[in-house]
Amino acid sequence: MTKLETMIGRAESIVILGHVNPDGDCVGSSLAVYNYIKEQYDKKVLVCLEAVSEKFSYLAGFEQIQNQPGQEAADLCICLDCSNEERLGAFKVCLDGAKESICIDHHVTNEGYAAENVIDPSSSSTCQVLFTQMEDERISKAVAECLYTGIIHDTGVFRHSNTSAKTMEIAGKLMEKGIDFSTIIDDSFYKKTYLQSQILGRALLESVSFLDKQCIFTVVRKKDMEFYGVDKSDLEGIVDQLRIIEGVECAIFMYEVGIHMYKVSMRSNKKVDVSRIAAYFGGGGHVRAAGCTMSGSFYDVINNLSGHIEKQL
Ligand code: 5GP
Ligand code: MN
Repeated sequence: MTKLETMIGRAESIVILGHVNPDGDCVGSSLAVYNYIKEQYDKKVLVCLEAVSEKFSYLAGFEQIQNQPGQEAADLCICLDCSNEERLGAFKVCLDGAKESICIDHHVTNEGYAAENVIDPSSSSTCQVLFTQMEDERISKAVAECLYTGIIHDTGVFRHSNTSAKTMEIAGKLMEKGIDFSTIIDDSFYKKTYLQSQILGRALLESVSFLDKQCIFTVVRKKDMEFYGVDKSDLEGIVDQLRIIEGVECAIFMYEVGIHMYKVSMRSNKKVDVSRIAAYFGGGGHVRAAGCTMSGSFYDVINNLSGHIEKQL
């Protein structure tokens, strides 16, 4: 019995949580556990996340996601892909109220805030860690679709350096469940709406290189988002496009979230540990992909980040 299954077995009511701004790994892992419990156990189970992008609507249980914390305290709270309590956002009350808790994650910065913690920073994704907490024979096609979605999102479809032989082995086992992997990859990862493509184009056009072209950044302001009619979820992927520009070691993408306030995403290729820089500014993440929220004008933000990047180059 794994830690997860033991704790599910002991509980009558369960609440599943992820991090703010839920991404593919967060949504995939949350719905994987949700479907697994629904299929294998007779328990009361709730999945609570901030607004989730419609592109994940093919996942079973998508319609059941609640955007508000549940009223009743649950026996067990399962936290997924969330590196610290603050990143649970408004749903932190569900963790505080629960009798038992377990956190399953792969963030190197996670210090283990739940009662039980299964954290493996060598895993590509929370979905990869989660696979090892489930019984292979009991993983259905619906659960496999959720786990596969999380893995492809956090590995950039098996491109990033967090992809290991183990990741591929697990992806292979999930393929054997009969999932339509090519449609999942196209529809949830590569497909963009016309407006998403336009804002990507605009962000690339306005990007600026610095530190001898080893770094590049671009910024999307509130007024740009209003002009194109897009929200923050439409900006996913912009930073990854910057990272693959020839000669770039470190890519920075930021968008305005308030007056003199920016949400920053960083990616690096070989040298820079962006999680260290993000953690310095109150954020976190992984060595090659991290983020934080910073205040000041965007010139201030770039100046501050640039100093830290230069030290590492
Ligand atoms: P992204 O740039 O795609 O938003 O995030 C990249 C990685 O950094 C993800 O693993 C994400 O969870 C983490 N991350 C992004 N923003 C923050 C933040 O503000 N705080 C922490 N702790 N992690 C973050
Ligand atoms: Mn993740």
